[in-house]
Amino acid sequence: MSKSLWLQTAYPRDDFPSLQQDVHCDVCIVGGGLSGIANAYFLAKEGKDVILLEKDTILAGATGNSTGKLTAQHDLIYAKLLKKHGQADAKLYYDVNEEALQFGRSFANKDELKKADSILFSQTKHGTELLRHEARAYEQLGIPGEFGRNSELPLPLESTLTLKDECQIHPVRFGQKLARMAVEAGARIYENTDVLLMDLKKRIVHLKSDYEIRFNELILSTHYPIEALRGMQIMKLAVDRSYIVAAEADMALQGQYISIDSPKRSIRTAQIDGNTYFLLSGANHKAGLEGNTKEHYNRLYTDLKNTFNLSDFITGWSAQDPQTPDMIPYAGTISAGLPYVYLSTGNRKWGLSNSLASARIISDQIIGRTNRATALYAPDRTGFGSLLLQTLKNTGLVIKEMASGYTTRLDAPTCTHMGCKTRWNNAEETWDCPCHGSRFRKDGSVLEGPATKPLEL
Ligand SMILES: Cc1cc2nc3c(=O)[nH]c(=O)nc-3n(C[C@H](O)[C@H](O)[C@H](O)COP(=O)(O)OP(=O)(O)OC[C@H]3O[C@@H](n4cnc5c(N)ncnc54)[C@H](O)[C@@H]3O)c2cc1C
Repeated sequence: MSKSLWLQTAYPRDDFPSLQQDVHCDVCIVGGGLSGIANAYFLAKEGKDVILLEKDTILAGATGNSTGKLTAQHDLIYAKLLKKHGQADAKLYYDVNEEALQFGRSFANKDELKKADSILFSQTKHGTELLRHEARAYEQLGIPGEFGRNSELPLPLESTLTLKDECQIHPVRFGQKLARMAVEAGARIYENTDVLLMDLKKRIVHLKSDYEIRFNELILSTHYPIEALRGMQIMKLAVDRSYIVAAEADMALQGQYISIDSPKRSIRTAQIDGNTYFLLSGANHKAGLEGNTKEHYNRLYTDLKNTFNLSDFITGWSAQDPQTPDMIPYAGTISAGLPYVYLSTGNRKWGLSNSLASARIISDQIIGRTNRATALYAPDRTGFGSLLLQTLKNTGLVIKEMASGYTTRLDAPTCTHMGCKTRWNNAEETWDCPCHGSRFRKDGSVLEGPATKPLEL
């Protein structure tokens, strides 16, 4: 896998040290993506003694490999939220994500954030029906959408649904700025500091380097809950993988787009240091279930060439994101039994605004401030029919894959997380686990959790 456009064009790196001693802190944050960094900033600003631990370098996980749309238009979602969660909660979801945009606008400069309309588009009659349905939900919720036919893209469009004046970001520069603000507010950030184990009862985090951190409160923002939490949230997340390719372009688009017909495509441009890039994303599939991932890149490159007439390809990369069964992320205390352990995950590929919203929820909980979205994002919420259904589906897959993992060790190694059989991914040259999304490098070392131990090859 190549480095994302964002990681290639990041600001010069601030060198954060590796932690080389035992320490104590008020709040220990594990994971240096946007979620962890936003929590570090909010809490340090409130005077908390905060430590953030990142196993590699900050922002090189899902955040640095995203598409960088900072918007409350999360594909087709509001009609579904209305149906599943009702009017008040669907509106609340929109509001907290819009507030996240306002926060982004309050500190980011033009190299980090730009105004852009968010646009869903359809090329079929069926798609137009879905868009009309979504537009009716916007109306019901008071979301200022415009149903019509925008003609900026060189595609025959049937209809569009536009949410004006949303944002797009350079996710790495945006996160780097926020990390600097967190440090200025007093947070301590450590890179190359890998959390291996957690003793949640004694409130100790153990590092791979044998040092330990004693904490009062712990935030897990590792993108996916790590091993010590097995069995708690794990069965309630499905992981989806997507691909992104970038090419040089002559002109920037005003809007950022998502097709709602098949094949699914997400489109935006980015202007970085005087150059313009066109980003095309799609070819989604359930993580770990496909071997020939080169095909997905090839499909996107073909689209860039044939549909958009672009052939100066720059790079291609891929990433994955877990989703909860009821579409709302998990953010907050994990359970009443562990009131000092917080989790942020399950963003369904909309974790840029949601990471900021989630960090508000978690930091408010820690500070003792009321946040009206606490219950909506609570990780231990239950009671939805769809939750049950999806959970059953997910656990069915897990059980099946675990069984084959335990019995068939002939061709692929077993994931060190929960024993599922991994699959070789020939484009990225990684071993991918279909159960919970762990990924391992060719040599067996961990690339992405929840697994924390290397494969036995
Ligand atoms: C292809 C794709 C495109 C996307 N595009 C968008 C978009 O346009 N808009 C949007 O809103 N969302 C988008 N998303 C979703 C968004 O990128 C994620 O939801 C969000 O970045 C998650 O942030 P995070 O901080 O939770 O995780 P991450 O950014 O992955 O950060 C987690 C960090 O934890 C670290 N970590 C893990 N384990 C340990 C450990 N044991 N010890 C120490 N550190 C550890 C990792 O190294 C990593 O740096 C996209 C997702 C995908 C897959």
